[in-house]
Amino acid sequence: MSDQIELRNTLRDRAGDRCELCPNAQELNPFAVAPFEDDNPEHNVLLCPTCRQQIEGDPAGLDTNHWYGLQETIWSETPAVQALSWRILHRLRGETWARDILDQAYLVDEVLEWAKQDPAGREEPTDDTPDEPVTRDSNGTELKDGDSVTLIRSLDVKGTSFVAKQGTKVKNIRLIGDPDNIEGKINNVMLVLKTKFLKKA
Ligand SMILES: [Zn+2]
Repeated sequence: MSDQIELRNTLRDRAGDRCELCPNAQELNPFAVAPFEDDNPEHNVLLCPTCRQQIEGDPAGLDTNHWYGLQETIWSETPAVQALSWRILHRLRGETWARDILDQAYLVDEVLEWAKQDPAGREEPTDDTPDEPVTRDSNGTELKDGDSVTLIRSLDVKGTSFVAKQGTKVKNIRLIGDPDNIEGKINNVMLVLKTKFLKKA
């Protein structure tokens, strides 16, 4: 923890004992600007609890009135402060004043790239990605390609007189992207088997 204390002292000197994003001077603590998570002062900003809560909370819940100071901090000589200011302004870009500041602000490429790596902003595209359906056996155990299963009841195999007996082991199954069915070989014949009649072996 001594590293944290040293970091805090370094940042307090740099920031003149104020939050680096607003005028608050109470309970100031270092905040690592993602993706960094280290004790390097270059990667940290000294924040008050209000700023921290706003940044870590739901981007939609940002309190506009708290952030007018960004029009100054966006010009900070400290890249971490600039990057974080840009990030918050970007989250507030629905507000005209925030957009105006973003339009006027100048950040060197390196800092702009950093600013754009906002963990809160990254969630948007992944929301559109459909989850792979999980295939489960009769007990709800997840099944994967290559697993072995046993039949929990005897099954008639369509088109044959063959009955696959309860307890038959099916090795090396294959998922087919349908949570209700898998493929597996019984007596060297590839069959589609209902997962509700299977148990992971
Ligand atoms: Zn603050």
